[in-house]
Amino acid sequence: MTTETTGQPLVCARNVHKSFDHLDVLKGIDLDIMPGEVVVILGPSGSGKSTFLRCINHLEAIQRGAVIVDGEQMGYARKGDRLVRLSGNQIARQRRKIGMVFQQFNLYPHMTVLQNLIEAPVGVHGEKRSDAIAHARQLLERVGLSDKADNYPAQLSGGQQQRVAIARALAIRPKLMLFDEPTSALDPELVGEVLNTMRDLARRGLTMIVVTHEIGFAREAADRVVFMDGGHIVEMGPPDAVIDNPQHERTRAFLSRFL
Ligand code: ADP
Ligand code: MG
Repeated sequence: MTTETTGQPLVCARNVHKSFDHLDVLKGIDLDIMPGEVVVILGPSGSGKSTFLRCINHLEAIQRGAVIVDGEQMGYARKGDRLVRLSGNQIARQRRKIGMVFQQFNLYPHMTVLQNLIEAPVGVHGEKRSDAIAHARQLLERVGLSDKADNYPAQLSGGQQQRVAIARALAIRPKLMLFDEPTSALDPELVGEVLNTMRDLARRGLTMIVVTHEIGFAREAADRVVFMDGGHIVEMGPPDAVIDNPQHERTRAFLSRFL
């Protein structure tokens, strides 16, 4: 059964703890995200935002707690009353439900835009090439780059490259998209086109977790805003509560930098 039929959260993070050697980075994160929800995570540098995203798709193994995506615990399966680690192949299958977009676009420089988009569906997931190409062209249209299919990444602006990276993440038909500061590496005049693409995905009902410092985007596009500091969720709620009427001093201090 999938979450669409059960009304269950698509993502459940339960008491997630993550440390690196003796550095405790996540100190008990609890967060449920419903299908179709857009959650924006705000917080100062070093507060654990990227680490949390990486724990969701099990790029980082957690030490305590659980991350459950679409009803499955990431990285583990229950056998009787024991938890067993999944194999690399099984983890790859779980990750197929999750697309990720980074600050750096990480496109394959030696491949055209279209080749970048069909690489994972055809090369990794065995999708029929003609189907993958048709889907890739749809996605390029959605991000406004139909005319760039045969260009190489270096021929595109940063904003265009990031829109290709978003289309590439969508090519595996993820149920969940994670964005880690997707506009932070862009020249200011290119930020808007990427945020517009993300707003469009949000309107189409994609479940998204977005780490960003774009407060305007959080205010308009987020169903919920989470403020993280020091490895904790300090507060969360609708944007007009967290951004316009924060209850915690740390949230107020953080937001005051953007006024
Ligand atoms: P944010 O994204 O909120 O800026 P990060 O999740 O990147 O924060 O980092 C939180 C803390 O974890 C930082 O102190 C960072 O140095 C540390 N950290 C992140 N990844 C690693 C790693 N692989 N090894 C050691 N420390 C790490
Ligand atoms: Mg980060």
